Amino acid sequence: MTTTTQPNAVPAASAQPPTAQTPTAQTLSAPRAQLATHEVFNQPGAPAADSPARDLWVGDAALRACVGDNPDLARLGAALGSDEMREAARDAQTRLPELRLFDRGGRRIDEVHFHPGYHRLMALGLENGYAASAWEPGGSHTSHAAFMYMFSQVEPGVCCPMTMTYAAVPALDADAGLSALWRPKLTARAYDPAPRSVDSKAGATMGMAMTEKQGGSDVRANTTRAVADTGSGEGVYRLTGHKWFCSAPMCDGFLTLAQTDGGLTCFLVPRWLPDGTRNAFQIQRLKDKLGNKANASSEIEYHDTLAHRLGDEGRGVQTIIEMVHHTRLDTALAPAGLMRAALSEAMYWARGRTAFQRRLIDQPLMRSVLADLGIEAEAALMLGMDVARAFDDPDARPYARLSVALAKFLSNKRAPGMIYECMECLGGMGYVEDTPLPMLYREAPLNSIWEGSGNVICLDILRTLMREPDAGAQVDARLDAARGQDRRFDDALAAHRARWPALPPEAEARWFVESLAQLLSGAVMMARSPLADAWLATRLDGPRGQIAGAMAAVDAGPVLARF
Ligand SMILES: Cc1cc2nc3c(=O)[nH]c(=O)nc-3n(C[C@H](O)[C@H](O)[C@H](O)COP(=O)(O)OP(=O)(O)OC[C@H]3O[C@@H](n4cnc5c(N)ncnc54)[C@H](O)[C@@H]3O)c2cc1C
Repeated sequence: MTTTTQPNAVPAASAQPPTAQTPTAQTLSAPRAQLATHEVFNQPGAPAADSPARDLWVGDAALRACVGDNPDLARLGAALGSDEMREAARDAQTRLPELRLFDRGGRRIDEVHFHPGYHRLMALGLENGYAASAWEPGGSHTSHAAFMYMFSQVEPGVCCPMTMTYAAVPALDADAGLSALWRPKLTARAYDPAPRSVDSKAGATMGMAMTEKQGGSDVRANTTRAVADTGSGEGVYRLTGHKWFCSAPMCDGFLTLAQTDGGLTCFLVPRWLPDGTRNAFQIQRLKDKLGNKANASSEIEYHDTLAHRLGDEGRGVQTIIEMVHHTRLDTALAPAGLMRAALSEAMYWARGRTAFQRRLIDQPLMRSVLADLGIEAEAALMLGMDVARAFDDPDARPYARLSVALAKFLSNKRAPGMIYECMECLGGMGYVEDTPLPMLYREAPLNSIWEGSGNVICLDILRTLMREPDAGAQVDARLDAARGQDRRFDDALAAHRARWPALPPEAEARWFVESLAQLLSGAVMMARSPLADAWLATRLDGPRGQIAGAMAAVDAGPVLARF
């Protein structure tokens, strides 16, 4: 399958002919509610296809306020909310990727077969600029972040290869030749999953393979060996070893790490070779994961595998860190998207469901819970988009380096509990796979674990504060600029600085990072959100319990009206 479109193309979704799996307004009839033994009532169905709540752009005032007018995002929001794409997502999540190691004659192919729903979503994302838009003239990381945030609400698994493709682009700057070949393909706004060498493809994808069995956080412990293959050209090496986590093994290339005589080095491993053969990239098995089901995370081995050195020998971490930095942006936005999707379901249910003669949305305790959840979702989005804006500002690079880690840490730590509470708002139905809540809940812990698990992110933040004074100074300046607007924020900032006049001991890093990230959220909320007062009242002021809704009465009306 090869599909290409011009930049800013209208998503293909609505152009597809209806099939048995893609009901349309024309083919849908109302389900029969009058059954033999009872009438079905008080069971909110899915929002109607033409409901604004289904449109991920129109229905999200907070997102639109963050990004401003953007026709690309408007089209994408509508497409992602369509029945066709919801069905494609469900197919991709339930009709699992299948590993095909050999062809019928016993020759190795090392391929993964995906349901067509997976390919439709990949095409929708890549053709509309998921990986490309930030790198195009006039493009921005802010609109990329909005793209990611909306996509993760519908099918977070396919985001993995698209995010890695977006993030690999700046890392390629380490080698002009590799960049000249790969960059145009990664940013082509095309999806071309054919197993063919990159030079012959309309578009390409890039994965990342760092983690080995003996350690993922400490990549310097990698044992994969790289030996120069001088007969095959400048910068060509042969790799031998393994990678314990390699998500999206059907990507066209991988940035990977291996040991050379000069130390840990970054390489680009092409999946398919220009002479029409397959590189020695052996998939051992696919991981049986908690969630993220559409994404075929695998274990792989390199057997004398051809690889191109990217950057100098011994500079592996410094080279691949550019990719890590950009994937972190997406891991900071993904929890905001997951929270938003879960909250939308909870709100829709609460507005349509009655208990004890009153709609759930009108019950004071449910209003407290939903308001608390809404404030959380809003803050995660505002913080993530603030970080994205810093990615667009060359002068704010130190701020981006630190704030992306703060946002990744805080939002991902909050997501699982928040999504569970949204699930509970639906009662028993929230625990049933007919709703997206179980999928969202299973997905929730992932973005905290990869690209720096919680502790590692906290230690990384301490290291950044120690080694990059500009980063700490820019975050401090941001916090200082927010002072004077609200006593609650000022008091919390003063308490933080009194508690940690210098960097905390390692054992306290989580507390310190949570507190700093929370303060940054406060500054961003005051600058950007109409829910700032509710956020300050429930996050920084006075006593409250530790669980959702465990707080004194707040004016839930304005909060709930936003969702
Ligand atoms: C679904 C999924 C997809 C993935 N895809 C990829 C991929 O495509 N490519 C890839 O390279 N990797 C991938 N990973 C791997 C992921 O990046 C690693 O699992 C992660 O970096 C942690 O490494 P580890 O599993 O070896 O855990 P470890 O490094 O052993 O860490 C275990 C725990 O110890 C903590 N810890 C580590 N060091 C310290 C310390 N100094 N002080 C205190 N605590 C510490 C960590 O925070 C963590 O909680 C994926 C993982 C998952 C779950």
